[in-house]
Amino acid sequence: MMKYAITEQCVGCHACALVCPNNAVFADPDKPQQFMIHPRRCTGCENQYDTPQCATICPVETAIVDELMIAVNPIGSLTGIVPLHVGRAQ
Ligand code: SF4
Ligand code: SF4
Repeated sequence: MMKYAITEQCVGCHACALVCPNNAVFADPDKPQQFMIHPRRCTGCENQYDTPQCATICPVETAIVDELMIAVNPIGSLTGIVPLHVGRAQ
């Protein structure tokens, strides 16, 4: 089962918290703009949805990563804008 986590790119928009079917998302009590995923509550949405619902709705690139720390929405995936220094595969 793949688990997900939220990075410091999070802007605290609440969207992921509203769609998580397992109440796994919460705001950092010390930093309300930073949301977090409870590692035991997160099931990766397995047996519930085809995609992790938090990452599917998150509007911020690289804010949600899988357990390998790979962004579900990498740079350029939502905006179509890839900074020159990141480059594209040819
Ligand atoms: S992957 Fe699914 S269960 Fe895990 S935090 Fe995201 S929405 Fe919740
Ligand atoms: S949807 Fe993305 S930006 Fe919004 S609170 Fe969740 S992780 Fe943060």
